[in-house]
Amino acid sequence: MKFDFLSESDQAYFIHKASTLVEALPYIRQHSGKNIVIKYGGHAMGDNILSQKFSKDIGLLKEVGINPIVVHGGGPQIGEMLKKKNIDTNFVEGLRVTDIKTVKIVEDVLSNVINRRIVNDINLTGGKAVSLVGNQNNLIEATKLKKTVRDNDSNIEKILDLGFVGEPVKINTSIIEQSIQKGHIPVIAPLGIDKDGNTYNINADTAAGAIAGALKANKLLLLTDVAGILNENKKLISTLSFNDAKNIINEEYVLGGMKPKISTCIDAIEKGVLQATILDGRISHALILELFTEHGIGTQIYS
Ligand code: ADP
Ligand code: MG
Repeated sequence: MKFDFLSESDQAYFIHKASTLVEALPYIRQHSGKNIVIKYGGHAMGDNILSQKFSKDIGLLKEVGINPIVVHGGGPQIGEMLKKKNIDTNFVEGLRVTDIKTVKIVEDVLSNVINRRIVNDINLTGGKAVSLVGNQNNLIEATKLKKTVRDNDSNIEKILDLGFVGEPVKINTSIIEQSIQKGHIPVIAPLGIDKDGNTYNINADTAAGAIAGALKANKLLLLTDVAGILNENKKLISTLSFNDAKNIINEEYVLGGMKPKISTCIDAIEKGVLQATILDGRISHALILELFTEHGIGTQIYS
Protein backbone atom coordinates (compact mmCIF):
# COMPACT_ATOMS: atom_id res chain seq x y z
CA MET A 1 0.00 0.00 0.00
CA LYS A 2 1.17 3.52 -0.74
CA PHE A 3 0.36 6.63 1.28
CA ASP A 4 0.68 9.45 -1.28
CA PHE A 5 0.39 12.07 1.42
CA LEU A 6 3.26 10.71 3.59
CA SER A 7 7.00 10.86 3.13
CA GLU A 8 8.85 7.56 2.99
CA SER A 9 10.28 7.98 6.47
CA ASP A 10 6.80 8.73 7.84
CA GLN A 11 5.47 5.62 6.14
CA ALA A 12 8.24 3.54 7.69
CA TYR A 13 7.40 5.05 11.08
CA PHE A 14 3.70 4.17 10.86
CA ILE A 15 4.40 0.69 9.51
CA HIS A 16 6.74 0.12 12.46
CA LYS A 17 4.00 1.32 14.82
CA ALA A 18 1.50 -1.05 13.24
CA SER A 19 3.85 -4.02 13.52
CA THR A 20 4.46 -3.22 17.20
CA LEU A 21 0.74 -3.51 17.80
CA VAL A 22 0.57 -6.80 15.91
CA GLU A 23 3.57 -8.10 17.86
CA ALA A 24 1.64 -7.39 21.05
CA LEU A 25 -1.30 -9.59 20.13
CA PRO A 26 -0.02 -13.00 21.35
CA TYR A 27 1.04 -11.40 24.63
CA ILE A 28 -2.32 -9.73 25.06
CA ARG A 29 -3.98 -13.13 24.50
CA GLN A 30 -1.61 -14.80 26.97
CA HIS A 31 -2.43 -12.39 29.78
CA SER A 32 -6.02 -11.49 28.98
CA GLY A 33 -8.27 -12.14 31.96
CA LYS A 34 -5.21 -12.83 34.15
CA ASN A 35 -3.82 -10.95 37.12
CA ILE A 36 -0.53 -9.09 36.87
CA VAL A 37 0.85 -7.60 40.07
CA ILE A 38 3.04 -4.55 39.61
CA LYS A 39 5.21 -3.13 42.36
CA TYR A 40 5.71 0.51 41.65
CA GLY A 41 8.86 1.55 43.45
CA GLY A 42 9.39 4.58 45.55
CA HIS A 43 12.37 5.42 43.38
CA ALA A 44 10.65 4.67 40.08
CA MET A 45 7.78 7.04 40.80
CA GLY A 46 9.68 10.23 41.52
CA ASP A 47 9.37 11.70 38.02
CA ASN A 48 6.08 13.32 36.91
CA ILE A 49 6.36 12.51 33.21
CA LEU A 50 7.29 8.92 33.92
CA SER A 51 4.42 8.52 36.35
CA GLN A 52 1.95 9.81 33.76
CA LYS A 53 3.29 7.21 31.33
CA PHE A 54 3.00 4.55 34.01
CA SER A 55 -0.64 5.49 34.62
CA LYS A 56 -1.42 5.29 30.91
CA ASP A 57 0.27 1.91 30.66
CA ILE A 58 -1.82 0.60 33.55
CA GLY A 59 -4.96 1.95 31.85
CA LEU A 60 -3.95 0.24 28.61
CA LEU A 61 -3.47 -3.13 30.32
CA LYS A 62 -6.96 -2.86 31.78
CA GLU A 63 -8.47 -1.89 28.42
CA VAL A 64 -7.05 -5.00 26.74
CA GLY A 65 -8.58 -7.25 29.38
CA ILE A 66 -5.62 -7.78 31.72
CA ASN A 67 -6.09 -7.19 35.46
CA PRO A 68 -3.28 -4.98 36.72
CA ILE A 69 -2.93 -4.76 40.51
CA VAL A 70 -0.59 -2.01 41.68
CA VAL A 71 1.31 -2.26 44.97
CA HIS A 72 3.35 0.84 45.68
CA GLY A 73 6.36 1.67 47.77
CA GLY A 74 7.31 5.01 49.18
CA GLY A 75 10.87 4.78 50.49
CA PRO A 76 12.22 8.12 49.25
CA GLN A 77 9.03 10.01 50.15
CA ILE A 78 8.94 8.47 53.64
CA GLY A 79 12.64 9.30 54.00
CA GLU A 80 11.93 12.95 53.16
CA MET A 81 9.10 13.21 55.69
CA LEU A 82 11.21 11.61 58.45
CA LYS A 83 13.98 14.08 57.68
CA LYS A 84 11.57 16.99 57.88
CA LYS A 85 10.46 15.76 61.31
CA ASN A 86 14.06 15.15 62.40
CA ILE A 87 13.52 11.44 62.95
CA ASP A 88 16.58 9.30 62.31
CA THR A 89 16.11 6.21 60.21
CA ASN A 90 18.27 3.30 59.17
CA PHE A 91 18.06 0.16 57.07
CA VAL A 92 19.07 -3.40 57.82
CA GLU A 93 19.30 -5.69 54.77
CA GLY A 94 17.15 -3.32 52.76
CA LEU A 95 14.42 -3.05 55.43
CA ARG A 96 13.65 0.15 57.31
CA VAL A 97 13.91 -0.12 61.10
CA THR A 98 10.49 1.21 62.16
CA ASP A 99 9.70 2.47 65.66
CA ILE A 100 6.23 3.63 66.72
CA LYS A 101 6.78 7.24 65.60
CA THR A 102 8.12 6.04 62.26
CA VAL A 103 5.26 3.64 61.59
CA LYS A 104 2.76 6.50 62.01
CA ILE A 105 4.62 8.51 59.39
CA VAL A 106 4.95 5.50 57.10
CA GLU A 107 1.19 4.95 57.35
CA ASP A 108 0.40 8.59 56.70
CA VAL A 109 2.73 8.98 53.71
CA LEU A 110 1.74 5.68 52.10
CA SER A 111 -2.02 5.88 52.53
CA ASN A 112 -2.71 9.62 52.47
CA VAL A 113 -0.12 10.89 50.05
CA ILE A 114 1.30 8.28 47.69
CA ASN A 115 -1.70 5.99 47.35
CA ARG A 116 -4.03 8.91 46.63
CA ARG A 117 -1.64 10.37 44.11
CA ILE A 118 -1.36 7.11 42.14
CA VAL A 119 -5.14 6.56 42.20
CA ASN A 120 -5.65 10.12 41.01
CA ASP A 121 -3.06 9.82 38.24
CA ILE A 122 -4.64 6.64 36.88
CA ASN A 123 -8.11 8.16 37.06
CA LEU A 124 -6.93 11.24 35.17
CA THR A 125 -5.97 8.98 32.25
CA GLY A 126 -9.50 7.53 32.20
CA GLY A 127 -8.91 4.40 34.31
CA LYS A 128 -10.93 3.49 37.40
CA ALA A 129 -8.41 2.99 40.17
CA VAL A 130 -9.45 2.32 43.76
CA SER A 131 -7.45 2.78 46.90
CA LEU A 132 -6.88 -0.28 49.09
CA VAL A 133 -4.85 0.16 52.27
CA GLY A 134 -3.29 -3.03 53.64
CA ASN A 135 -4.07 -2.41 57.30
CA GLN A 136 -7.72 -1.61 56.61
CA ASN A 137 -10.46 -4.29 56.44
CA ASN A 138 -7.82 -6.91 57.30
CA LEU A 139 -6.58 -6.82 53.72
CA ILE A 140 -3.03 -7.77 54.72
CA GLU A 141 -2.87 -9.76 57.95
CA ALA A 142 0.65 -9.50 59.25
CA THR A 143 2.93 -10.49 62.05
CA LYS A 144 6.08 -8.88 63.34
CA LEU A 145 8.98 -9.88 61.14
CA LYS A 146 11.36 -12.27 62.80
CA LYS A 147 14.69 -11.90 61.15
CA THR A 148 17.93 -13.47 62.22
CA VAL A 149 21.47 -12.73 61.07
CA ARG A 150 24.59 -14.79 61.58
CA ASP A 151 27.50 -12.88 63.06
CA ASN A 152 30.46 -13.43 60.73
CA ASP A 153 33.07 -13.58 63.50
CA SER A 154 31.35 -15.68 66.14
CA ASN A 155 28.92 -17.51 63.78
CA ILE A 156 26.21 -16.96 66.39
CA GLU A 157 22.66 -16.25 65.14
CA LYS A 158 21.21 -12.97 66.38
CA ILE A 159 17.55 -11.99 66.32
CA LEU A 160 17.09 -8.58 64.73
CA ASP A 161 14.47 -6.26 66.13
CA LEU A 162 13.25 -4.07 63.30
CA GLY A 163 10.33 -2.71 65.33
CA PHE A 164 7.05 -2.42 63.44
CA VAL A 165 8.23 -4.18 60.32
CA GLY A 166 5.79 -6.90 59.44
CA GLU A 167 5.53 -9.84 57.13
CA PRO A 168 2.25 -10.83 55.51
CA VAL A 169 0.60 -13.98 56.87
CA LYS A 170 -2.65 -13.79 54.95
CA ILE A 171 -3.95 -11.71 52.07
CA ASN A 172 -7.71 -11.35 52.00
CA THR A 173 -7.95 -11.72 48.28
CA SER A 174 -11.74 -11.33 48.16
CA ILE A 175 -11.38 -7.57 48.66
CA ILE A 176 -9.01 -7.37 45.69
CA GLU A 177 -11.07 -9.75 43.56
CA GLN A 178 -14.25 -7.79 44.20
CA SER A 179 -12.70 -4.60 42.94
CA ILE A 180 -11.32 -6.40 39.85
CA GLN A 181 -14.78 -7.80 39.15
CA LYS A 182 -16.18 -4.30 39.23
CA GLY A 183 -13.69 -3.31 36.53
CA HIS A 184 -11.51 -1.36 38.94
CA ILE A 185 -7.74 -1.20 39.21
CA PRO A 186 -6.69 -1.88 42.83
CA VAL A 187 -3.87 0.32 44.11
CA ILE A 188 -2.56 -1.16 47.36
CA ALA A 189 -0.55 0.50 50.15
CA PRO A 190 1.81 -2.04 51.79
CA LEU A 191 0.72 -1.88 55.41
CA GLY A 192 -0.30 -4.84 57.53
CA ILE A 193 -2.33 -5.39 60.66
CA ASP A 194 -1.90 -8.06 63.34
CA LYS A 195 -4.47 -9.75 65.60
CA ASP A 196 -4.03 -7.06 68.25
CA GLY A 197 -4.63 -4.24 65.79
CA ASN A 198 -0.99 -3.13 65.48
CA THR A 199 -0.06 -1.60 62.16
CA TYR A 200 3.12 -2.77 60.41
CA ASN A 201 5.32 -1.36 57.71
CA ILE A 202 5.75 -4.03 55.06
CA ASN A 203 8.42 -3.80 52.41
CA ALA A 204 6.47 -3.12 49.22
CA ASP A 205 8.27 -5.85 47.28
CA THR A 206 7.35 -8.37 49.98
CA ALA A 207 3.72 -7.21 49.97
CA ALA A 208 3.53 -7.36 46.16
CA GLY A 209 4.96 -10.88 46.15
CA ALA A 210 2.52 -12.10 48.79
CA ILE A 211 -0.39 -10.57 46.86
CA ALA A 212 0.81 -12.06 43.57
CA GLY A 213 1.15 -15.46 45.25
CA ALA A 214 -2.28 -15.29 46.87
CA LEU A 215 -3.91 -14.26 43.58
CA LYS A 216 -1.90 -16.84 41.59
CA ALA A 217 -0.93 -14.01 39.28
CA ASN A 218 0.49 -14.70 35.84
CA LYS A 219 3.27 -12.25 36.50
CA LEU A 220 4.90 -10.22 39.19
CA LEU A 221 6.69 -7.11 37.96
CA LEU A 222 8.95 -5.21 40.34
CA LEU A 223 9.71 -1.76 38.95
CA THR A 224 12.80 -0.18 40.40
CA ASP A 225 15.62 2.25 39.66
CA VAL A 226 18.19 -0.14 38.17
CA ALA A 227 18.15 -2.18 34.97
CA GLY A 228 17.54 -5.39 36.94
CA ILE A 229 19.89 -7.63 38.90
CA LEU A 230 23.47 -6.67 38.09
CA ASN A 231 26.31 -9.17 38.43
CA GLU A 232 29.74 -8.55 39.98
CA ASN A 233 30.79 -6.72 36.78
CA LYS A 234 27.67 -4.51 36.91
CA LYS A 235 26.25 -6.31 33.87
CA LEU A 236 22.54 -7.07 33.67
CA ILE A 237 21.53 -10.67 34.32
CA SER A 238 18.62 -11.03 31.91
CA THR A 239 17.26 -14.42 32.95
CA LEU A 240 17.61 -16.51 36.08
CA SER A 241 16.15 -19.89 36.86
CA PHE A 242 14.41 -20.31 40.18
CA ASN A 243 17.35 -22.31 41.58
CA ASP A 244 19.94 -19.77 40.41
CA ALA A 245 17.89 -17.00 42.03
CA LYS A 246 18.04 -18.90 45.32
CA ASN A 247 21.83 -19.04 45.12
CA ILE A 248 22.45 -15.51 43.96
CA ILE A 249 20.80 -13.95 46.99
CA ASN A 250 23.84 -14.73 49.13
CA GLU A 251 26.35 -13.31 46.66
CA GLU A 252 28.36 -10.33 47.87
CA TYR A 253 27.21 -8.14 44.99
CA VAL A 254 23.54 -8.46 45.98
CA LEU A 255 22.97 -5.77 48.59
CA GLY A 256 20.35 -3.60 50.28
CA GLY A 257 16.96 -3.30 48.58
CA MET A 258 17.84 -5.95 45.97
CA LYS A 259 17.79 -8.69 48.61
CA PRO A 260 14.07 -8.44 49.47
CA LYS A 261 13.31 -8.17 45.75
CA ILE A 262 14.98 -11.45 44.90
CA SER A 263 13.52 -13.31 47.88
CA THR A 264 10.11 -11.94 46.94
CA CYS A 265 10.44 -13.35 43.42
CA ILE A 266 11.45 -16.73 44.83
CA ASP A 267 8.50 -16.81 47.25
CA ALA A 268 6.04 -15.73 44.58
CA ILE A 269 7.16 -18.45 42.17
CA GLU A 270 6.96 -21.01 44.98
CA LYS A 271 3.34 -19.98 45.45
CA GLY A 272 2.50 -20.47 41.78
CA VAL A 273 3.26 -17.17 40.06
CA LEU A 274 4.52 -18.07 36.58
CA GLN A 275 7.16 -15.42 36.16
CA ALA A 276 8.71 -12.62 38.17
CA THR A 277 10.65 -9.74 36.62
CA ILE A 278 12.77 -7.03 38.20
CA LEU A 279 12.89 -4.13 35.75
CA ASP A 280 13.83 -0.51 35.34
CA GLY A 281 10.88 1.77 36.05
CA ARG A 282 12.88 4.76 34.82
CA ILE A 283 12.46 3.58 31.23
CA SER A 284 9.46 5.08 29.43
CA HIS A 285 6.63 2.56 29.08
CA ALA A 286 8.69 -0.10 30.89
CA LEU A 287 5.55 -2.17 31.48
CA ILE A 288 4.55 -2.25 27.83
CA LEU A 289 8.06 -3.13 26.71
CA GLU A 290 8.23 -5.95 29.20
CA LEU A 291 4.80 -7.39 28.61
CA PHE A 292 4.11 -6.80 24.94
CA THR A 293 7.36 -7.00 23.03
CA GLU A 294 9.56 -9.92 22.06
CA HIS A 295 12.59 -8.49 23.81
CA GLY A 296 11.29 -7.97 27.35
CA ILE A 297 13.51 -6.00 29.72
CA GLY A 298 15.06 -6.45 33.15
CA THR A 299 15.84 -9.71 34.95
CA GLN A 300 13.28 -12.45 34.46
CA ILE A 301 13.05 -15.19 37.05
CA TYR A 302 11.11 -18.22 35.93
CA SER A 303 10.02 -21.44 37.59
P1 ADP B 1 12.98 0.33 45.36
O1 ADP B 1 12.52 1.65 45.85
O2 ADP B 1 12.72 0.16 43.89
O3 ADP B 1 12.53 -0.84 46.18
P2 ADP B 1 15.63 -0.19 46.52
O4 ADP B 1 16.61 0.88 46.77
O5 ADP B 1 14.95 -0.78 47.70
O6 ADP B 1 14.60 0.38 45.43
O7 ADP B 1 16.34 -1.40 45.74
C1 ADP B 1 17.02 -1.19 44.51
C2 ADP B 1 18.51 -0.93 44.77
O8 ADP B 1 19.19 -2.13 45.09
C3 ADP B 1 19.26 -0.41 43.57
O9 ADP B 1 19.10 0.97 43.38
C4 ADP B 1 20.71 -0.77 43.92
O10 ADP B 1 21.35 0.33 44.54
C5 ADP B 1 20.58 -1.87 44.96
N1 ADP B 1 21.31 -3.09 44.61
C6 ADP B 1 22.06 -3.81 45.46
N2 ADP B 1 22.62 -4.87 44.88
C7 ADP B 1 22.23 -4.84 43.57
C8 ADP B 1 22.50 -5.67 42.44
N3 ADP B 1 23.29 -6.77 42.50
N4 ADP B 1 21.92 -5.36 41.25
C9 ADP B 1 21.13 -4.26 41.15
N5 ADP B 1 20.85 -3.43 42.20
C10 ADP B 1 21.39 -3.71 43.40
MG1 MG C 1 13.01 -1.31 48.24
